[in-house]
Amino acid sequence: MMKKIQMTTPLVEMDGDEMTRILWRMIKDELLLPFVDLKTEYYDLGLPEREKTRDQVTVDSANATKKYGVAVKCATITPNKQRVEEYGLSEMWKSPNGTIRAMLDGTVFRTPIIVQNIRPVVRNWQKPITIARHAYGDIYKATEYRVPSPGKAELVFTDATGAETFRQTVYDFECPGVLQGSYNKDSSIRAFAHSCFRFALSEKKDLWFSAKDTISKQYDQTFKLIFEEIFERDYKALFEEAGIRYFYTLIDDAVARVIRSEGGMIWACKNYDGDVMSDMISTAFGSLAMMTSVLVSPDGIYEYEAAHGTVTRHYYRHLAGEETSTNPVATIFAWTGALGKRGELDGDAALTNFAKALEKACLDTIEAGTMTKDLAGLVTPGSPVNAVNTSAFLAAVRKRLEQALA
Ligand code: NAP
Ligand code: MG
Repeated sequence: MMKKIQMTTPLVEMDGDEMTRILWRMIKDELLLPFVDLKTEYYDLGLPEREKTRDQVTVDSANATKKYGVAVKCATITPNKQRVEEYGLSEMWKSPNGTIRAMLDGTVFRTPIIVQNIRPVVRNWQKPITIARHAYGDIYKATEYRVPSPGKAELVFTDATGAETFRQTVYDFECPGVLQGSYNKDSSIRAFAHSCFRFALSEKKDLWFSAKDTISKQYDQTFKLIFEEIFERDYKALFEEAGIRYFYTLIDDAVARVIRSEGGMIWACKNYDGDVMSDMISTAFGSLAMMTSVLVSPDGIYEYEAAHGTVTRHYYRHLAGEETSTNPVATIFAWTGALGKRGELDGDAALTNFAKALEKACLDTIEAGTMTKDLAGLVTPGSPVNAVNTSAFLAAVRKRLEQALA
């Protein structure tokens, strides 16, 4: 038996709910614990524990992430009315992801995992496209109403001393209509920009940022200028060193270029653009079960997870004693992302190499035809398909991993 890989610094481990909680255990038992002397600081973000601690466990896990710098998270239930009944909750606890993101002031980056036997809808895409969405403000925090009758709409700003410093007519309505006031904050845009530049450096990929500054000469222009200023001051030299580039373009031009590109970039989007484009990208690449997600704070703290949820439907089949074919790949990649980053920060090449080997074992297994059912319908016609349940898939990955590490 080979010697287990040692870790210097613990990872923050955030356990979760339902089917992904089952996958979590299986992944650890089959693919991690036999090879790595896993050091984690464990937080149970499963809904029963959040209820028991009145959600303090979520706050504690975010603070631990700030302390150690790298976390891996299992999918968790965001309670709604039905969940409050199902779990007998005393309150409708907030989304853990929302709480953690707010505490880290972070940006979420979503990247598809690509295999050669599943081709994206856009044929020229060879490399994954990562979307970074600025998840603050704009229409998501806008004030709006229907204008019922003719009348004047104005935009007024009163400063902290009570002085009215701006008053501008938005529109002189001659008939009923609609009106909206949206805002954003320099501090939030700055945090977004830093997270994007840092992640681009970490991934060694080009960063694109798009907005509509030609039309929105103050609002979108502010985003553009803040990105530019921070890039010139803090990141330009580092980008040159890393051989990557930053470039700004109009959102419509970005859409056209992305479609024609071979992929491989990180595309930073304003809130609404990111909402829309991330769905387009994930659908075009194939499957939500093959999408990773990482939260990056402006000061370089990383929290890795799968982009999908707790796969409730499969969980109820599992509880009924059925074998399920739930795809564990995005959750495995959350672990490899976190272990790889931990290895990189600690200068621990053995750990980083292990993470790479595990990722390769997953991709090779799928490319050789062994995969979970969700992927079976997506593979290129004519290529081999052996659709298996989750444990058989994990066993196949383990076999390849053992060979690679031997
Ligand atoms: P979901 O868990 O992502 O699952 C939706 C459907 O997508 C599944 O029923 C399944 O389709 C397919 N799917 C997703 N992941 C898969 C995988 N790994 N392997 C195979 N198929 C997969 O979304 P949901 O059902 O809307 O949400 C369930 C719970 O997750 C909710 O309580 C929600 O709050 C939570 N959630 C958490 C996060 C997070 O923690 N980051 C994110 C989103 C949702 P089939 O049933 O057709 O096979
Ligand atoms: Mg969306």
